[in-house]
Amino acid sequence: MLIDGHGREVNYLRVSVTERCNFRCQYCMPEKPFSWVPKENLLSFEELFLFMKVAMDEGVNKIRITGGEPLLRHDLDSFIRMIHDYKPDIDLALTTNGYLLPEMAQDLKDAGLKRINVSLDTLKPAVASYIAQKNVLAKVLDGIAIAQEVGLGVKVNMVPLKGVNDGEILDVMEFCRERDIRIRFIEYMENSYASSDIEGMHGKEILEIIKQKYTIRQLGREGASPSFNYEIQENGYIFGLIDPHKHDFCENCNRIRLTAEGNLIPCLYFDEALSISESVKAGDIQAAADVLATVLKDKPKENRWSDEDGEGDREVSARAFYETGG
Ligand code: SAM
Ligand code: SF4
Repeated sequence: MLIDGHGREVNYLRVSVTERCNFRCQYCMPEKPFSWVPKENLLSFEELFLFMKVAMDEGVNKIRITGGEPLLRHDLDSFIRMIHDYKPDIDLALTTNGYLLPEMAQDLKDAGLKRINVSLDTLKPAVASYIAQKNVLAKVLDGIAIAQEVGLGVKVNMVPLKGVNDGEILDVMEFCRERDIRIRFIEYMENSYASSDIEGMHGKEILEIIKQKYTIRQLGREGASPSFNYEIQENGYIFGLIDPHKHDFCENCNRIRLTAEGNLIPCLYFDEALSISESVKAGDIQAAADVLATVLKDKPKENRWSDEDGEGDREVSARAFYETGG
């Protein structure tokens, strides 16, 4: 079992397989970064997997593949198969913008993937084009439908932004309910790479909009999940709210993040990271395990987005979401 310096059990590893993306979302990567990590600095799937085996052997039982856009990484299905073959009962999921799902969903499912989260911020083509800076909506919606057809479990992530998609919170939720998809509203997390034109919504404001139509009941956090769940009394639908501005958000944090070039990141907010690159390139499992132990020992207690009432000045993280994978 992996325990961090604050006594929290860590059993969840998020692995970003690329920082590159085919979208330029306003809240994440509105401009193409000045330079990408050179391809030769990326860890191969075998090298990433070497570290992941160490983590799985020590107690990680939940893995999420993310990015950038993970479906851009060549042969992703072979990576999924490696993980699945090593531990078939591992909770293996992937977060994607959905654009390449129409052509890839079946291969991912066949490789052993069980669940995906798709980012869907709007049902309006023009708003999707504004957020992603590309005409994406039709393919994303197609991707969601095909993923469900091939038998992948699907959840949707929506980041509500003031004056952009805040009028669609109920519509996107309804879209999901009709398709038996759980939606999770994610509070916009301030970061220095995002567009300065956007303003996120506090969880309280998101809930106020839902309460104008429905009565909602708090269910609470699902174990160590960052999602606080609510049930709509009128129809029994359950939705989630990911609220990193809330003071108790980090209390049960159970995750660490590995980037495509081998940086092990203990917290989404902070810059701190230690590299496992040299260890895995040398095949030195003990050295990789030692880096993991140090990262766990030094994992911060909480992020700095905390702003319980939504009225304070928000701290801005210097971490790029496209690097950490969210
Ligand atoms: N490209 C994939 C996608 O968009 O789903 C995976 C990577 S993306 C960084 C992972 C998640 O982070 C997405 O659901 C995205 O909406 C979310 N995200 C990105 N930037 C964010 C921000 N500043 N605040 C909150 N969520 C953010
Ligand atoms: Fe790409 Fe995902 Fe970032 Fe959007 S949120 S730019 S899809 S990595």
